[in-house]
Amino acid sequence: MRQKLFEPEYVLDLRSLAALRGIKPDSQGGVEIGALTTLRAIERSDFLRRHYPVLTEAAGTVASPVLRNMGTIGGNICLDTRCLWYNQSLAWRKGCGFCIKKDGDLCHVAPGGSKCWAAFSGDTPPALLCLNAEIEIAGAAGPRRVALKDFYTGLGDNYRKLATNDLVTRVFLPASSADYRGVYRKLRVRGSIDYPLAGVAVVLKQSSNGNGRGHIADARIGITAVNPAPLLVKGAGELLAGQIINEELAEAAGDLVARTAKPLTTSALTPEYRREMIRVFTKRAVLAAAGN
Ligand SMILES: Cc1cc2nc3c(=O)[nH]c(=O)nc-3n(C[C@H](O)[C@H](O)[C@H](O)COP(=O)(O)OP(=O)(O)OC[C@H]3O[C@@H](n4cnc5c(N)ncnc54)[C@H](O)[C@@H]3O)c2cc1C
Ligand code: SF4
Repeated sequence: MRQKLFEPEYVLDLRSLAALRGIKPDSQGGVEIGALTTLRAIERSDFLRRHYPVLTEAAGTVASPVLRNMGTIGGNICLDTRCLWYNQSLAWRKGCGFCIKKDGDLCHVAPGGSKCWAAFSGDTPPALLCLNAEIEIAGAAGPRRVALKDFYTGLGDNYRKLATNDLVTRVFLPASSADYRGVYRKLRVRGSIDYPLAGVAVVLKQSSNGNGRGHIADARIGITAVNPAPLLVKGAGELLAGQIINEELAEAAGDLVARTAKPLTTSALTPEYRREMIRVFTKRAVLAAAGN
């Protein structure tokens, strides 16, 4: 609002809605997380760390401890997309020329196009996508439940399917995604506070062969900050399932993810560097998740 990116007539403080806070395991072995649950509560939850470790790790990398004390999982899911040409003061944007995302009709990143490529830059959604999360949205017609993978549009300017009066109220993680090993890795300029400029979440289920290094029964990879929406990487499960993780396979996973990532000049680091780093981070995350 200080940068005049939003000029709302009213601002609604949701903090007093206590019913939307808390982490509640359900009777089927899944869990329900209230949208107003802070990122710190998620990062600190023993239940989530034990059963959904990729989420506690991703939540623990958001911004800084002070921001995680205030920031909520619902806000992180709904976070606006980011771009070097957009997250600027009004005077700066006026000087350079307004763009499609606000007040203008051109894109500085992809001139000639009509699409906004601002990057979705939340840390928890790739982890939640790997866990097949669903969200509940309360609207004028009552509550509805949608898969998180269907919530994002892939457009930088109109990035989420949320009507003006809609509120995200709860997040659901199914029992079928519990107890996967999970790792989240992110590239950022300042390790102590920054948004991701490339982020990757990996979850794996291994069959046990006695020393904890069995074949992969199931695997999912989610990415953030390199496209206008967080994504589940197509083909990751097929690539890894039935295999034993080694350097070569982890490198192949990195190549697949680098092909899915479409970083553009929306941030302080170059697209080439971000693409290369998501390849490297994916390899490391796959090896770490497999216990190598
Ligand atoms: C300096 C700084 C660094 C940051 N670094 C990171 C980072 O590294 N990684 C990261 O992921 N984020 C980062 N953030 C963003 C932010 O702190 C987190 O995303 C946080 O989770 C946002 O939660 P919030 O509750 O404050 O949401 P808000 O910022 O209040 O809301 C974000 C958006 O979601 C909407 N919204 C919020 N709650 C709901 C709801 N329940 N239903 C519907 N819409 C809703 C708001 O209207 C707004 O459009 C950073 C922010 C700052 C200021
Ligand atoms: S990607 Fe283009 S339209 Fe979108 S915010 Fe950046 S400059 Fe504006």
